[in-house]
Amino acid sequence: MAGLDMEIRFLKGVGEKRAAAFAKLGIHTVGDLLCHFPRRYEDRTHYTPIAAAQPDEWVCIRAMVATEPTVSRIRRGLELVKLRVVDDSGSVSVTYFNQTYIKNQLLRGETYYFYGKLSGEGKARAMANPDWEPESAPAVTTRCIMPVYRLSAGLGNKYMIGCVRRALELAGEDVPDYLPESVRQAQGLAQARFSYENIHLPTDLEMLELARRRLIFEEFFVLACAMERMGKRAKNKSGFTVKKPQPEQFYSRLPFSPTGAQRRAAEQCMDDMASGCSMNRLIQGDVGSGKTMVAAACVWAVCAAGRQAAFMAPTEILAEQHFRTLSAFLEPFGITVELLTGAMSVKAKREAKARLASGQAQAVVGTHALLTADTEFAALSLVITDEQHRFGVEQRSALAVKGDRPHTLVMSATPIPRTLALMIYGDLDVSVLDELPPGRQKVDTFCVNSSYHQRLNNFIRKQAAAGYQTFVVCPMVEESDTDTPAAADLKSAVDWAEQLRRELPELRIQCIHGKMKPKEKDAVMKSVVNGEADVLVSTTVIEVGVDVPRASLMLVENAERFGLSQLHQLRGRVGRGNQKSWCVLVTDNQSEETRARMKIMCSTADGFEISRADLAMRGPGDFFGSRQHGLPEMRIADLCGDITIMQTAQEAAKELLARDADLASPECRALAKRIETLFSDGNIIMS
Ligand code: ADP
Ligand code: MG
Repeated sequence: MAGLDMEIRFLKGVGEKRAAAFAKLGIHTVGDLLCHFPRRYEDRTHYTPIAAAQPDEWVCIRAMVATEPTVSRIRRGLELVKLRVVDDSGSVSVTYFNQTYIKNQLLRGETYYFYGKLSGEGKARAMANPDWEPESAPAVTTRCIMPVYRLSAGLGNKYMIGCVRRALELAGEDVPDYLPESVRQAQGLAQARFSYENIHLPTDLEMLELARRRLIFEEFFVLACAMERMGKRAKNKSGFTVKKPQPEQFYSRLPFSPTGAQRRAAEQCMDDMASGCSMNRLIQGDVGSGKTMVAAACVWAVCAAGRQAAFMAPTEILAEQHFRTLSAFLEPFGITVELLTGAMSVKAKREAKARLASGQAQAVVGTHALLTADTEFAALSLVITDEQHRFGVEQRSALAVKGDRPHTLVMSATPIPRTLALMIYGDLDVSVLDELPPGRQKVDTFCVNSSYHQRLNNFIRKQAAAGYQTFVVCPMVEESDTDTPAAADLKSAVDWAEQLRRELPELRIQCIHGKMKPKEKDAVMKSVVNGEADVLVSTTVIEVGVDVPRASLMLVENAERFGLSQLHQLRGRVGRGNQKSWCVLVTDNQSEETRARMKIMCSTADGFEISRADLAMRGPGDFFGSRQHGLPEMRIADLCGDITIMQTAQEAAKELLARDADLASPECRALAKRIETLFSDGNIIMS
């Protein structure tokens, strides 16, 4: 494996500086580069006669340079190269910005291929900065299916293609291959070398599809084998059996009456914990369905029996929120709840830990801080994780080992398809909260285009004047987006906050974005919860679970960029108090698909219906938001979109393990090794 393990800096044309840019993408070796699959492709195989191209269409044309390229200097730092190119059907004016060298490369009378966005009509047809190649040169950016990679600063797409090409040459037949030959043949899948070549540099769409199929299958297959083998260790005898309690006692002290669904779920949990086996249950319920109360009922049952419970949340702000709720629910029963987060003072942490270790405190709510080695429990019997897909499998078990085979409960607002749930959790039971607490107001949802901007600003002012808050959510703008055509219209949270501050100077406007440290995010979020801001502009960091009771308006910019389930989660952030609440989806995207998606959002409030539609449409947005499922990062497979391949892979995995439970045969060697490292090589998504 010398080729694949070679450090990327030694690949021809890379070097130290670029290696650092590669590292930002998680690419350290030649093998990593080969597994950095394109995020999409541009079909540039066909070229269009100039006259046949539509305005604003991205096209490949074959044309002759008709005029000597001229250079003009517009101002310091802006130089243009201009030329006119022609084919049999028409002509186009081509402009390059700040690439003066092109003047000497594009020769009058020679024919080239150009790929770019064509604007204007007739004589006014123009192209800015098109990719170009001489007819005689190899097809890299024209006349081909061009891969588009996720990039980082300092790495261009063309450069990336060149590196991948060299990596493929260097690797030869020695590419990653985990599929046992017998499985590959039985499934009629392409060979590894072919697949790596065609996933990066496909000769045509058919080859690409064959390659994709093989690689997706392989990825699911490895995962399914790993899960199968872990699943074997699932149902075990519990460390502590909770004698079946009388939940009415708990309900009678709640500030509200539990819904039927909450009672059913709590009852199921208590049955599990009384069964003698460890509970391993997922509570699935739409935003606002009241999952916290079910968790509290379990904590109550365990603590009343003299044991301890730990509740882990993905962020400080959520931990504090749950801490307040749980304390209020449980203190009337004499149960002491602790808070444990990284932001607390060393002293406060030490004292909280001491009370947990001695058993003086019965319950704790915390963040990852719960996982540190010096957090010990006297009698931990219940482990709860909220919004669990933010945690890795590994982290969940890291908390569980602090007790003796404790019961586990995970809570999620993301309706996960059954097959996927089984794959992620193995032998897991599911309770569904399919009923919202009474009196919830529907969040009125509208979809508008950006011409409504001023009116929306007035709406924000009105909410603020009434003492309510507005969330404005912008899509994540990846660095690699900056070279895509739509980038100019994408609103980044930071820029948008700046603009709103100018337009609404009388309002207090805060901003949260992905580049901030968790601590900084938490501080901003806290000030919002405390009512110290009128408007919070953010990327999707507020998607998960935070309760801001005075928020009444959710504005989503570039709504077409979000998955339906994600939009639904975002909408769930408002309408949590008694006031009337609104969700406004802003998009200028006119495509059929966007319109259909917006229509669903405006017409239903049912999270399950929405996720079904999301799956059916296979929207561009990743079903879980961005990689929040706690599984190893999938390089190519889409955990929801490729359901059929996933099922086939799972069956094949079962079959193989039935034949060779220890993966001992020689054809399984690579697979067995891969599974071993799957959960230990930093593959787990942290949050
Ligand atoms: P989620 O399922 O989204 O985590 P929460 O547990 O945060 O929902 O509950 C949302 C809100 O609904 C909270 O303010 C909670 O106090 C309230 N709530 C929960 N159950 C009920 C109920 N049965 N009746 C009235 N309000 C409830
Ligand atoms: Mg919640």
